[in-house]
Amino acid sequence: MGQVVTIDGPAASGKTSVSRELAKRLGWSWVSTGAFYRGLAYVAHSTATTLHDEEALAKLAVDKMWQVKMAHDHTRVFLNGKDVTDEISQEHVGGIASQISHFPKVRAALLQAQRECQKNSSGLVAEGRDCGTVVFPDAAVKIYLTARQEDRAERRAKDLGLSVAETVKAQVQRDQQDSSRKAAPMKVPEHALVVDTTELDFKQVVGLIEDHVKRII
Ligand code: C5P
Repeated sequence: MGQVVTIDGPAASGKTSVSRELAKRLGWSWVSTGAFYRGLAYVAHSTATTLHDEEALAKLAVDKMWQVKMAHDHTRVFLNGKDVTDEISQEHVGGIASQISHFPKVRAALLQAQRECQKNSSGLVAEGRDCGTVVFPDAAVKIYLTARQEDRAERRAKDLGLSVAETVKAQVQRDQQDSSRKAAPMKVPEHALVVDTTELDFKQVVGLIEDHVKRII
């Protein structure tokens, strides 16, 4: 099994694009663990599972009707064999994911599949909210990526064609839910390098993290 680099941080902090580019440069595998929560949110919505039913959601989390598969461009989700990756990237699916991700049984049910991403890889870059704290506590390098709230919202609004005001509102709520939950709250992992990307461009962020990784590994 190869080494692991984790990149955690709040919504729209650039984790996905930065971690994907880092994995490409290192020649490693890459996984966005949000796809597990988004996938489950989408499946729950599609099967009309009540979002308050922890037991039902935990059962659905390990149901063979859906799978998460790693790829270089996107962490893909399949429901009954159909690729639903585009569908899960919608903002409202992220909102549902955040609502159901506070259930400890749901988190426990998704953990094994996330850890398996490390198997058969020469190295793995994993991004999410709890990758450095819970999923891969022994990761060789841990990063916490963040940026000013307005900048993050502007980025996300541009990507999804939404209004900035609307996006700030949804984002504040999601960050609040993710950081205040009891089970695996979003927080800076111990010994993590905190990177504030507000004043940096994409290349600078990736370069800075790549240098840090290469100094340690
Ligand atoms: O990162 P992304 O926007 O895809 O994550 C969607 C939601 O999934 C987050 O708001 C969070 O509630 C949940 N999540 C999580 N733990 C992770 C990754 C995502 O709780 N490791």
